[in-house]
Amino acid sequence: MRDPDCIFCKIIAGELPSQTIEEDERTIAFMDISPATRGHLLVVPREHARDLLEISPEDLAATVATVHRVAKRVSERLSPAGINLLNSCGAAAWQTVFHFHVHVIPRYEDDPLRLPWIPSGGDPAEIEAVARELR
Ligand code: AMP
Ligand code: ZN
Repeated sequence: MRDPDCIFCKIIAGELPSQTIEEDERTIAFMDISPATRGHLLVVPREHARDLLEISPEDLAATVATVHRVAKRVSERLSPAGINLLNSCGAAAWQTVFHFHVHVIPRYEDDPLRLPWIPSGGDPAEIEAVARELR
């Protein structure tokens, strides 16, 4: 299943160019066109799913397995100081391409990336209240 307007479906179909680094039956990993750091890549399921809420558990598991393999390769070949994984679900969460993907972002001591929130003391009562909603 594919979405005719989806750029990642077009990459998967070979209709748009990409720097693909590996593919398997369910997933493909390719370089991000606007890398946040050296070696930034994306892992996507072949089958179109809009986001985390839509992807099947099987494709999610396959995507995570590829992420794991690729992250280990990034670590071995590029020797970053660390790695971030990022998935954005919904425009409010910064998603811009609506085909599920996980960013694998190698981190370097002198890179410009910063944590997007400022950790500060939480309200224990509020944390407990939301935990009750989630149980
Ligand atoms: P997100 O904002 O989490 O939806 O991430 C979308 C990512 O896709 C961004 O980091 C873009 O740089 C990347 N991107 C968009 N178009 C392409 C493309 N044609 N090839 C590779 N990466 C792309
Ligand atoms: Zn797609």
